[in-house]
Amino acid sequence: MMLGALMIDFSFPPEVEELRLKVRQFMDDVVRPEWESIDQKDRAVVAKTIVKLRKSAREDHGLWLPHMPKSWGGMGLGPTAMAAVSAEAAKVSIGPFVLNAQAPDEGNQHTLLHWGTPEQHEKYLRPLCEGTARSCFAMTEPEVAGSDPTLIQTHAYKDGDEWVLNGHKWFITGARGAKFALLIARTEDDPDLPQAANSCFIIDLPNPAFRIVRDIETMSGGHNHCEILIEDLRVPAANMLGGQGQGHLLGQYRLGPARLAHCMRWIGQAEIALDLMVKRSLERYSHGSYLAEKQGIQWLIADSAMELYQSKLMVLHAAYKLEHQMEFISEVSMAKHFVANTLWRIVDRAIQVHGALGYSTDTPLAGMLTQARWSRFADGADEIHQMRIAQRTIAAYKDHGSTKKATGELPL
Ligand SMILES: Cc1cc2nc3c(=O)[nH]c(=O)nc-3n(C[C@H](O)[C@H](O)[C@H](O)COP(=O)(O)OP(=O)(O)OC[C@H]3O[C@@H](n4cnc5c(N)ncnc54)[C@H](O)[C@@H]3O)c2cc1C
Repeated sequence: MMLGALMIDFSFPPEVEELRLKVRQFMDDVVRPEWESIDQKDRAVVAKTIVKLRKSAREDHGLWLPHMPKSWGGMGLGPTAMAAVSAEAAKVSIGPFVLNAQAPDEGNQHTLLHWGTPEQHEKYLRPLCEGTARSCFAMTEPEVAGSDPTLIQTHAYKDGDEWVLNGHKWFITGARGAKFALLIARTEDDPDLPQAANSCFIIDLPNPAFRIVRDIETMSGGHNHCEILIEDLRVPAANMLGGQGQGHLLGQYRLGPARLAHCMRWIGQAEIALDLMVKRSLERYSHGSYLAEKQGIQWLIADSAMELYQSKLMVLHAAYKLEHQMEFISEVSMAKHFVANTLWRIVDRAIQVHGALGYSTDTPLAGMLTQARWSRFADGADEIHQMRIAQRTIAAYKDHGSTKKATGELPL
């Protein structure tokens, strides 16, 4: 071995690589053909198809809850193995749902597992893992900036053995049809720290005091992102998740892995877009050569390949840090910002290379672009991540005389 050769091993253990290929094959052979053959606008047909595909994933292929421990019926994968599986699953938009690893349930499962009492585990986590229930996470409000959870106005006061909640939420993904919500509300009027004002409640649904006003129509249509009015909603004290005033802590705990899980899925989507871009450039002929031979198009391909490579390295490193209980907040923040923007840029370039076809809905690219747009502000807007990354970089310099600690703490 070369003197001083470092043991940086980017290969996956054989069992993880085998699993990755198994997920890819399942998506290619079973999920994509079924999904592309149905009318995806018909909700009843979509629901029936998901049930059928989930049964096949779980019973025929042993692919279910990859991120959850085996004791919960899952596959017990750590964050780095999840990166491999999620990227493959997300190559079909419905893929993560088929494996019961979709947002927001995936994040809620982690949160309940970590913070829930044994009773809460049985009542709420069990059905979520069995796939007999869906859930939602209700934090954002129309009246105040979602970027600053200390501004949350939904309020809870104690009345005997119950809490009484009033407030207004919106963009609550999956609220219609959910069996319960994890809801963040203000319980402390004068906390020692502004971050300690909120608590998390588990809300049984449906409930007339948790009223769905509308399914918000977005630039890609309605996708069960609901506006909710909460009027004198009574919640048993036993339904607080985590301690009183710990809502922010719980949100932070939830968001680290949940943001990284988004990045893993976005890598799968970005790879599909780059594949389509190259395929089209090899088929389309103009001004004496194929598009793949034009330097202008090669730059689009090259930039996309480099950015996807950077994205993969960032996600793997953040997952590695998460897996080894090292500090990961900054790496997840950088990955979330970078991968979200990479997804947007690669899909946009792929549309450019497809010309009018890219603008149509004959390819998946148009749908991918509207989805990619929300990735730049949901679960932390770009500018918030940049603000935090800059703060940590400045602090590292002030504390250590070097910014090294803020750039992944790599041995370079
Ligand atoms: C498709 C989709 C699904 C969602 N699902 C959920 C869900 O299930 N549950 C839930 O609770 N929420 C959900 N959200 C809401 C999402 O989490 C919020 O959009 C996000 O937290 C930003 O909050 P906001 O929309 O209020 O934007 P704001 O906080 O008003 O920010 C708007 C913009 O202002 C800028 N900005 C804000 N603060 C700063 C600052 N300090 N410095 C510089 N610039 C700043 C940024 O550019 C930011 O994009 C979803 C949103 C979308 C689009």
